[in-house]
Amino acid sequence: MDCIFCKIANGEIPSKKAYEDDTVLAFYDLEPQAPVHILIIPKEHISSCAEITTENSAVVSHIFEVAAKLGKELGLEKGYRIVNNCGEHGGQTVKHLHFHLMGGRQFTWPAG
Ligand code: AMP
Ligand code: ZN
Repeated sequence: MDCIFCKIANGEIPSKKAYEDDTVLAFYDLEPQAPVHILIIPKEHISSCAEITTENSAVVSHIFEVAAKLGKELGLEKGYRIVNNCGEHGGQTVKHLHFHLMGGRQFTWPAG
């Protein structure tokens, strides 16, 4: 499958890693929108949030554990934003589930 994040997960495409274990990879976004901008992905290919099921959802809670750990490690004690863009209207450009962990500045709401 021609999926850029699968290739990052298996090392075919290099990335600046922030965290890795058997099921999850966190790496720095190429076009950061905040002082800290990390993408957290399951190593397993799930195309979007819309494809999360009872069978594959465990990795999502693990991703949020990793986000909390990275938030502490990276000194984001004032807070951060976790974003998932799902599908066309959500603005998803890479069709492999990923959560943006962004911090180091004040964000506004509603976004976009
Ligand atoms: P989204 O618009 O939510 O699908 O986000 C995709 C994100 O992936 C964007 O923020 C891109 O900057 C980022 N991105 C695309 N290719 C790479 C890459 N090779 N390494 C790191 N980040 C990437
Ligand atoms: Zn993939």
